[in-house]
Amino acid sequence: MQNFTIATIPGDGIGKDIIKSAIELVDLSSEIIGGFKCEWEMIDAGAEYYSKNGTDVEPQGEDRINEADSIFLGAIGLPSVRYEDGTEICPHLRFREMFSLYAGVRPVKAYPNITNRLSNKLSSKIDLVILRESTEGLFYTAAVHNRCPVDNNDEVQDIMRITRNTTEKLHDFAFKLARQRKKKGKLGKVTCVDKANVFRSQAFFRKIFDERKTNFQDIQSDHCYVDAMALNLIRNPWEYDVMVMENMFGDILSDLGGGLVGGMGMASCAEIGDNHGLFQPAHGSAPDIMGQDKANPLATILSSTLMLDYLADKNNCSNAAKSSKLIETAIEVGFQKNKLRPMEFGGDMGTQAITKELMDLLKDTNVQKEALN
Ligand code: ATP
Repeated sequence: MQNFTIATIPGDGIGKDIIKSAIELVDLSSEIIGGFKCEWEMIDAGAEYYSKNGTDVEPQGEDRINEADSIFLGAIGLPSVRYEDGTEICPHLRFREMFSLYAGVRPVKAYPNITNRLSNKLSSKIDLVILRESTEGLFYTAAVHNRCPVDNNDEVQDIMRITRNTTEKLHDFAFKLARQRKKKGKLGKVTCVDKANVFRSQAFFRKIFDERKTNFQDIQSDHCYVDAMALNLIRNPWEYDVMVMENMFGDILSDLGGGLVGGMGMASCAEIGDNHGLFQPAHGSAPDIMGQDKANPLATILSSTLMLDYLADKNNCSNAAKSSKLIETAIEVGFQKNKLRPMEFGGDMGTQAITKELMDLLKDTNVQKEALN
């Protein structure tokens, strides 16, 4: 039996409910598959914790996170709770920096029976990944407060930081991801999304992409300026596979991607570095619907499948990969048979109803056969 310690931060708002759903499903699927188990080590952090204790993570929390096999997070932040400089509580941005989580993986996949935002029938084939660099780019000054102090009232600057070290690793990650996806029958192509015609930092980003692609001759590649990509994501998103870009461009295009396939409640996310992986939904704590059983837990559940794939790869644990596949298949079948109807898309199912339906689907031997054959 392989045991994995998961540093688990429920956080704020809907975070506590959606993380509970995902834990129940991962536990059930690991029981069904066997051979491994996740130990959920709870860590208090976030805005609510800050408002009571004056710090955003419990004592020794960061050390425990550092030692865990992976980090699993619900959602952090409440608009009413702020640091002294007026910004929202965001220890997770600090974790990206502390643990060098440079590769932000944001899948955008269409599921059947979710209201389609695009009229073209091909939009049912949308299945791409936005790979967002997550430690530098235009977020470099935002991730750590006061890195670029405001010293007068007339002008403020932020910095677009692109380093060779991180960018080489990011592009390699993109090509390896495309290779894995190609093995699963997907397109297997990487598009470098940049603004290389205007910014020197972006020309540098593209130059490194062109250098690294020579090591991945089996994978198709192309470039696209970020403004054109905003257009293409509406016009022909089904023609893309892995898209790699700097932090701020990825921040914006991944919300657009979430919108294309339903809403933020479907937007999963993995943040991966050389030694750590953090998994969380791409949405926030949604305080407008907290405590009402209205939140869609699927983004968090899909993030848990990314975590299982990560644990499988890192620890050579094929059962964790099977467990991930089982949950993904249950979601796919659930939408196909119209058994998953999140309130987020006008349906009648809240967090608990969706979780219960997915538990039943996981136990269904036909779903198990489809997932594991
Ligand atoms: P952040 O900046 O922390 O990402 P945000 O202010 O952009 O947060 P979210 O918390 O992501 O906002 O919420 C944006 C909108 O999407 C809200 O109306 C919220 O209710 C809705 N929303 C977000 N997540 C979900 C979810 N899982 N289920 C249903 N609705 C959601």
